[in-house]
Amino acid sequence: MSVPPVFRDRDGTLIVERHYLGDPGQVSLEREVVAGLSMLRARGHALIVLSNQSGIGRGLLSEADAQRVNARIAELLRENGIDILAWYLCPHAPDVPCDCRKPSPGMALAAARDWNLDLAGSYVIGDKRADLELADAIGGTGILVTTGHGSDAVGWAKANARPVADSLLAAAQFIAARDRPAHSAEDAPAGPKSIVDRRPG
Ligand SMILES: [Zn+2]
Repeated sequence: MSVPPVFRDRDGTLIVERHYLGDPGQVSLEREVVAGLSMLRARGHALIVLSNQSGIGRGLLSEADAQRVNARIAELLRENGIDILAWYLCPHAPDVPCDCRKPSPGMALAAARDWNLDLAGSYVIGDKRADLELADAIGGTGILVTTGHGSDAVGWAKANARPVADSLLAAAQFIAARDRPAHSAEDAPAGPKSIVDRRPG
């Protein structure tokens, strides 16, 4: 049985949202990110970051700036024993047609190709509706986190039966509960209260 990959947004999900961040000195991890990623890593999920960085296309930061920010995040996570498998970014402004800007699936498809991943059953965690719609596009499950811009999308998420988590740790707990083998379901504790999952079945 293969363990499904977990895709994750960067700004507002992994790190505190700062508009068009190009300065590694301003990186700070969002709440419960280390605990959440540690849990996912222990369960064997491939951890991959997919990030829209339209600030590059808008001329507000360079791709090198964005990579330096990624390197700083990777450093902070590595200090906590967490390795991100890969980072993908869309550098295009919204008015430029491309197949990588979320919710388009280009970055996830590239990751699947690069790392031989099966996207069916995958998860996408993010603070925007585009992250949830990306999950739909690749046959995965989207989980909205209420960090970053997440509170703006809660209404849409609930109206459309998407799970909502109040942190990356809560999202990881949702995945663990969902993926738990059936034979251990009886003695499993109830899912975290912070999760709202209205999906049928
Ligand atoms: Zn793009």
